[in-house]
Amino acid sequence: MLLAGRVAVVTGAARGIGRSIAQRFAEEGASVVLSGRDTAKLADVAETLPLTEDAEAVVLGCDVSNDNEVKNLFQAVFKRFKHLDLLVNNAGVLEDALIGMVTREQMHRVFGVNIFGAITCSQYASRLMQRSGRGGSIVNISSIIGVEGNEGQTVYSASKAAVIGLTRSLAKELAGKGIRVNAIAPGLIDTDMARSLPPDKLAERLAGVRIGRLGTANEVAGVAVFLCSDLSSYVTGQIIGVDGGMTV
Ligand code: NAD
Repeated sequence: MLLAGRVAVVTGAARGIGRSIAQRFAEEGASVVLSGRDTAKLADVAETLPLTEDAEAVVLGCDVSNDNEVKNLFQAVFKRFKHLDLLVNNAGVLEDALIGMVTREQMHRVFGVNIFGAITCSQYASRLMQRSGRGGSIVNISSIIGVEGNEGQTVYSASKAAVIGLTRSLAKELAGKGIRVNAIAPGLIDTDMARSLPPDKLAERLAGVRIGRLGTANEVAGVAVFLCSDLSSYVTGQIIGVDGGMTV
């Protein structure tokens, strides 16, 4: 059990990559706080988690773009567990538009979730991690698009590049407190988000994947387990590509 006795918050845990991370964390002995906007869906996921004997699954509603809801989330975590060890900033939205069509509202929506949400959650989570003196691990889900850019994805790409800046800066700031901060940059992963791409775009992007297939959410979750466990105790400030060789 790589995460026995740890308490983890996973944002956007109702489906896709977040759901798989919650599942893998539970398999490894963690208690998991499933967070997201749809508490009914989260409760269904909680029922399926393979929890170990002393572990719990807790559902806490939270729109990460709403500062008050984020504050309430971490207050509730403290009340319930008295400490926090792991945070996965997974919640994200993808809205494609060519630059001429980008709206201010879209910029606010995408940045509100993908980067402001990640920063605010990191702020509250790192306070709890420091308070307990147990250290911790924060994993941010960026994207290969944040590293490489892509046409029609200026706003999404900028928000995911910002997640890399957040990761590197916070890793420097928190290393001395025993808190590691890393990011995963997934390539093309088989979730609702990737399936929302137009079929021709999906096929075009798939052609650049050297392993020759979409990745699975479980393959991303495995790297999250590594980054949250002691297996990676000397790893911080890193951006790990999980992209089937897209960037090789
Ligand atoms: P998904 O759309 O299936 O899941 C995203 C989750 O985030 C959903 O549960 C959604 O409800 C939640 N969410 C959205 N806005 C939220 C908000 N305001 N507050 C709380 N939760 C919110 O997509 P996914 O593929 O599982 O994506 C997970 C993460 O991985 C995202 O950050 C995404 O940008 C990133 N990513 C995905 C891919 C891919 O190919 N699927 C590639 C690179 C990066």
